[in-house]
Amino acid sequence: MVPSEGVRIAVVGGGIAGVLLAWRLLAASPVSPVSTNSTPAGVEHARNPVPSSSRTSRGPAAGFGAGAGFGPAAGVGGGPRLTVDVFTGGRRADADATAASGGLVRGFETSPAACLAAAESLAELRGSATLRAWAGYREVGAVYLLPPGADPAGSVRVLDAVLPGSATVLSAARLAARYPFRGLPAGTTGVVERHAGYLSPARLRSAVLTELVAGGCTVHRRPVTSVTPAPAVRLADGSVLGYDIVVVAAGAWTPRLLADSGLACGGLRTKHIQYSVHAVRLSGLGAFVEDSTGFYGRPADDFSFLLGLPSPRWDVDPSAPSAAVPDQVLAEQVVAYAGRRLGVSETPHAAPRTVASFDCYHEPPGLALRDGGAPGSALFTFTGGSGGAAKSVLAASRAAAGVLVGLHAGCDAGLGAGLGVGPRAGRDAGPGAGRAVPVGERSVPRRGTEPVIR
Ligand SMILES: Cc1cc2nc3c(=O)[nH]c(=O)nc-3n(C[C@H](O)[C@H](O)[C@H](O)COP(=O)(O)OP(=O)(O)OC[C@H]3O[C@@H](n4cnc5c(N)ncnc54)[C@H](O)[C@@H]3O)c2cc1C
Repeated sequence: MVPSEGVRIAVVGGGIAGVLLAWRLLAASPVSPVSTNSTPAGVEHARNPVPSSSRTSRGPAAGFGAGAGFGPAAGVGGGPRLTVDVFTGGRRADADATAASGGLVRGFETSPAACLAAAESLAELRGSATLRAWAGYREVGAVYLLPPGADPAGSVRVLDAVLPGSATVLSAARLAARYPFRGLPAGTTGVVERHAGYLSPARLRSAVLTELVAGGCTVHRRPVTSVTPAPAVRLADGSVLGYDIVVVAAGAWTPRLLADSGLACGGLRTKHIQYSVHAVRLSGLGAFVEDSTGFYGRPADDFSFLLGLPSPRWDVDPSAPSAAVPDQVLAEQVVAYAGRRLGVSETPHAAPRTVASFDCYHEPPGLALRDGGAPGSALFTFTGGSGGAAKSVLAASRAAAGVLVGLHAGCDAGLGAGLGVGPRAGRDAGPGAGRAVPVGERSVPRRGTEPVIR
């Protein structure tokens, strides 16, 4: 059932996940009116009904609309009218995972479902000059090192279908001949992708935020202090704003926000992530990751390389100043490992610059729409990127928007299933709160009414 005033959606969080979800929603709406809620200080909106990127035939939203079965044109044909408010919080724009991200993007993942999401995202990025420019995409190629005995065939088939001709599987000997890898265990294989590289999630976020404001989305540059399953958001001044749908896309802040709201955090956890930018050149090597150790990197520029290892620090509090303090022991471990695996040693004249931040994790990993700690309500989370959402956010946001639009369009299965991308709701469903939202199993509560079971 579509409310007569349209469907009012709040997205809490202005990282790459929140803004791309809002952008997808805006593109799905036939008319994008400004917020029906009050617009106090710190709020931006405009009355342009269609995101500007959607107004060009080659823009990403047009491409997305065509592929996903909705977008401006499809919305006019029957999708519900959406009002989208985004709450970006009051923090500096450089204080989140989106700002810190290394931005490595590739299609290959060991899980075929995750591979599909990453490959679909990369295909959309590569197919859109607008998206490539917004994101500052650099196509430097990628190598994914697999341990002996691992069989990449399933994911490579997915990759071949989405990005034909991009992937090649190489033996340890051929990897060592082509790249500066040293001491690879016998039996190592590498999935080499031509069509991969890195982007700037921060640049993409900034461009999309501009689009959102131009497109009629209301951007509240202040934090939400709690959410309710009504669903509603509560602000610091005590005001409560009701919506038809609330999505918490607050990255590493999501578990605490849910807890502060008296809600279960559904298996969401936080983890520290860091890398250092070293003054080294690794000729011929683009983006890479070693599955067995999590060692990863990419060129930063012609004279430096970003290198990192997974951090052991779980459950960091993203609001604590210590959360973004580099772990010196980890930084030194990276230098030692890079020496062994890549033969690099630190040059004496330039100390590495270390970037430390955090992300929201979920098991199974993946940016996806999940129950927001109140199953059966229209309160959701859209987080859980687990250190990898930059590479899947285009597909994941499209899938999530499809499910949300479907809730009120009465075509859940049609939209959700028709999107054909993952990690989509329903695919990695697990028991209890925090599970991914099964398409077609939602109860959709309306303000002041009993939930309607679709
Ligand atoms: C160091 C590092 C390197 C990475 N490298 C890669 C990589 O190479 N490839 C890859 O694919 N992924 C990578 N990632 C992961 C990827 O960047 C993240 O998964 C992604 O940026 C998460 O985006 P997000 O929007 O979920 O969270 P965030 O970017 O953290 O955004 C959350 C936003 O919510 C806001 N917020 C918080 N609380 C509230 C509130 N109460 N009200 C309103 N707003 C609120 C915050 O201010 C923040 O802006 C990396 C991450 C890090 C930290």
